[in-house]
Amino acid sequence: MNAPLPRGVLADRDELARRLAQETEGEVLFDVASCGRYATDASIYQAMPIGVFVPRTPHDVAVALQLARELGAPLLPRGGGTSQCGQTTGTALVVDFSKHLRRVLALDAEARRAEVEPGIVLDHLNAQLKRHGLWYPVDVSTSAQATLGGMAGNNSCGSRSIAYGNMVHNVERIAAWMADGRALDFGPLATLGAAEREIAEFVRGLAEAVAPEIDANWPTVMRRVAGYNLDIFRPRSERPYTADGGVNLAHLLVGAEGTLALTRSLTLRLAPLPAHKVLGVVNFARFHTAMDSAQHIVKLGPSAVELVDRTMIELARANPAFRPVIETALIGAPDAILLVEFGGDDRAALLKQLAALVELMADLGLPGSVVEMPQEAAQKALWEVRKAGLNIMMSLKGDGKPVSFIEDCAVPLEHLAEYTDALTAVFAKHGTRGTWYAHASVGTLHVRPILDMRRDGAVKMRAIAEEAAALVRRYRGAYSGEHGDGLCRGEWIRWQFGPRIDDAFRALKQRLDPGNLFNPGKIVDPPKMDDARLFRFPPVYRTIPLTPVLDWSAWNVRNDAVTEATTAPGTGGDDTGGLAKAVEMCNNNGHCRKFDAGTMCPSYRVTRDEQHVTRGRANTLRLALSGQLGDEALDGAAVRAALDLCVSCKGCKRDCPTGVDMARLKVEATAAYKRRHGHTLRDRLIAHLPRYARFASALPWLFNLPESAKQRVPLLARWSERALGFAAARSLPRWRRDTVRHEAAGYGLASAAQALAADKSVLLWVDTFNGHFESENARDAVRVLRAAGYAVHVPGLRGEPLCCGRTYLATGMPERAKASAGALVAALAPFAARGIAIVGLEPSCLLSLRDEALVMGLGDAAAAVAAQALTFEEFLAREARAGRFAPEFEAASRPIKVHGHCHQKAFGAMAPVLEVLGLIPGASPELIESSCCGMAGSFGYEAEHHAVSMQMAELSLLPAVRAAGDAWIVADGASCRHQIADGARREALHVARVLAAHLAPKPGV
Ligand SMILES: Cc1cc2nc3c(=O)[nH]c(=O)nc-3n(C[C@H](O)[C@H](O)[C@H](O)COP(=O)(O)OP(=O)(O)OC[C@H]3O[C@@H](n4cnc5c(N)ncnc54)[C@H](O)[C@@H]3O)c2cc1C
Ligand code: SF4
Ligand code: SF4
Repeated sequence: MNAPLPRGVLADRDELARRLAQETEGEVLFDVASCGRYATDASIYQAMPIGVFVPRTPHDVAVALQLARELGAPLLPRGGGTSQCGQTTGTALVVDFSKHLRRVLALDAEARRAEVEPGIVLDHLNAQLKRHGLWYPVDVSTSAQATLGGMAGNNSCGSRSIAYGNMVHNVERIAAWMADGRALDFGPLATLGAAEREIAEFVRGLAEAVAPEIDANWPTVMRRVAGYNLDIFRPRSERPYTADGGVNLAHLLVGAEGTLALTRSLTLRLAPLPAHKVLGVVNFARFHTAMDSAQHIVKLGPSAVELVDRTMIELARANPAFRPVIETALIGAPDAILLVEFGGDDRAALLKQLAALVELMADLGLPGSVVEMPQEAAQKALWEVRKAGLNIMMSLKGDGKPVSFIEDCAVPLEHLAEYTDALTAVFAKHGTRGTWYAHASVGTLHVRPILDMRRDGAVKMRAIAEEAAALVRRYRGAYSGEHGDGLCRGEWIRWQFGPRIDDAFRALKQRLDPGNLFNPGKIVDPPKMDDARLFRFPPVYRTIPLTPVLDWSAWNVRNDAVTEATTAPGTGGDDTGGLAKAVEMCNNNGHCRKFDAGTMCPSYRVTRDEQHVTRGRANTLRLALSGQLGDEALDGAAVRAALDLCVSCKGCKRDCPTGVDMARLKVEATAAYKRRHGHTLRDRLIAHLPRYARFASALPWLFNLPESAKQRVPLLARWSERALGFAAARSLPRWRRDTVRHEAAGYGLASAAQALAADKSVLLWVDTFNGHFESENARDAVRVLRAAGYAVHVPGLRGEPLCCGRTYLATGMPERAKASAGALVAALAPFAARGIAIVGLEPSCLLSLRDEALVMGLGDAAAAVAAQALTFEEFLAREARAGRFAPEFEAASRPIKVHGHCHQKAFGAMAPVLEVLGLIPGASPELIESSCCGMAGSFGYEAEHHAVSMQMAELSLLPAVRAAGDAWIVADGASCRHQIADGARREALHVARVLAAHLAPKPGV
């Protein structure tokens, strides 16, 4: 079993925590789970920090630095923690700049210059620059979560570096705290103060002393990010760091990986946003030819040349959503394609460049190989496919994973073809394979061989690294061309530059950080890359055996490194039944830290806490399941706290590149916790609601009494908050008698036998919420369906209600959930067997038939039901396309704004909503850009979650609803409608009601 994570090495650890808490306004996170969440980045490494500090102000950083110096604690600055080489893992006080220190301090649009704090995320900066027609052009793929401080730390590079350069080419000044506490300002030599000039002279001396070695060993390719930039005084890069050829001392800190100073602010050189872009997709029958052609294509002056190889093309083709897009770019079945982009303000000139590309390829013997894409919409779609291909590759199940350690070696373009051929042979020799993609323009191709670090991965990693290094040397390239050194490539610095330059790096570190305070073990005196004590999954890694409540066997597999084929479910040898392996799918890439109004991850968008983001949750679960949180396992307080604000929106299921499904994982954690700690009265009230609903709606006056009294007597509201845990500020849904059960006779429903016999029939499963609180939705759905000639059968109108069991899953009662879902599946199965569509109104209930019901051990019947289960709109859209649904609608008289339920988005079920509403003549329904409404089942009703629930709603949904004028507000989720009513005082309607409202009256009816 893995040892619990050590609590850091510092003797005065408690003193450090105490004084940080006392002397700063920052957050002091020294508990084992918080430290564990900062023990990893997007690399294969893990090292337990001494503690974590989240400064609120620059002053907090200065105080933390002072305390660290006093108490001898190393300090590790961190941004988004998306480094791939272990730069941000270390036994140190980790300082997270990303939460609070993220302001734009100054912007001079005319001079195209901005000063920013280090924690600002690139996309957020660019969003602010857009209105000035500017952007910061180092467009890393992680732009949604990478911070400018981290980008400078790694000397990051974007897809368009051929046009704009790396970070080092685009940073003008860095204000920084030095290890001795001084705040210095680094910039062009002529502007330096005395202290900075002294440093500059020292660096000049070092560079001069090793000038012959620099001339002999320093890679000249633009993509060289290893070591320190001593070459500011002896330029070697094919692209000069400064426009005027002068020396800028700030460039010494770029790429220093937080080892020389702490960045306080950066002054950045901005670029005008290109007004136009055109794209040419060159198709190659042979990968080798693609690689060979890159050197000629770059001479045309493109802004990007990106590679997509056959594996990725096939992955995209296999995906129904991407297939039509990728096929627009293909001519036949190419072995590789190059996406060649030209950007600028003069569209006519760009079109000429595109024509020149066509001509060039013909000259190179490939006439007719270019698909021209002058339209930006088509280009955008294709770039998305290129990104998604990588995501699919990363989602490989099993212990073998694509490992990043030689994935950014850069070689001169004239050698690219030979280099890729040779490295492919190296992979084959070691029983693995790599998929190639990315930056052909600058000779940096990403490739990750599949290795199993728990078994023979480390041995293979070293062997492959050594052979790759020999190739890099043969072709005079750079071993570290994009992702930095960290723990993975530090040992290769001496190999790349030679001992004298390595010693000069050490002398520089010694001069600026004599106490080795900043990020020790990076760049200077690094560990071996294959030191298993630093691995996240070392060979001794074990998990605590347990039996999960859901079926996770799909993750419990082994994979083949060459074919990527996986063994049968359940054969992976995981003693948690696959649960641990599902958790381990998180590779820490940090994609869930994004902020756009998609669905992942609403709790992070509100809190900006690592604890409340999918990555933090997955790390907490992994540590718990592997015994690294001590005695606590799934049922412990740390897991409970990390999952507390997860609203089970399934945003991660859809958006996480590796498919981490935290909502499903929360079912396991909640069940474990409740098993140990028992259920509360509130749990029981929520869980059993579907059971007592029919009695409550029969006697609404009795069950509504507390609510109406609550409204009249505020004291009673506060009592109910304290005694039951329901937020006093919330209205509760009202029970009523006019339910489907009570009034079904007036609905014109078909019996089961009639439905089975009819030509056009549908089974409408009415869930608890639409059945008891908003039965007009069911009534209108029936009206719409009948108007189009369907025989509509509603099952379960008598006796026990038919419920998916979601309320039981949410409250940690999985056995009851299984019983409930089992009864539902049994009732629906006969209709499914006859191919009759099973249609539901509440997205989360209906879609659970396609999700949780399949992992509850309900057998083949569940799969048969899932195959027929459709949301109301999915069914109508399908039928409309087939010409079977065409009722007469009256023209729309008001705009229609649609808020999507999280589960509709997670299952890609929003397009049919718009499609169906579009059947109303004159309607042009628009999607509200929103993520989770924040209500999320019972979450928003719970007293302790009410505030966060409202903050989630205020992120985008409620402001959009308030601004919607007299538009129809459409929301299919019961909780979304409730949140809109509570937060914006607006009525939102189910699609069924909007459609019914537009049904043209039939003559005589
Ligand atoms: C899927 C994926 C795709 C990627 N694509 C690219 C890509 O296209 N191009 C590319 O270059 N990289 C890429 N990377 C690597 C990584 O995302 C980038 O290097 C990114 O810029 C790091 O930003 P961050 O905020 O996460 O920095 P972190 O990882 O948090 O930190 C990076 C370094 O900067 C230091 N640092 C952070 N803040 C400070 C500070 N205030 N003062 C001093 N030092 C500091 C840290 O100590 C660390 O050494 C990718 C990574 C992943 C996982
Ligand atoms: S949860 Fe998914 S998106 Fe988030 S870091 Fe892990 S793998 Fe990346
Ligand atoms: S289910 Fe939603 S709230 Fe929970 S981790 Fe995933 S995206 Fe975040």
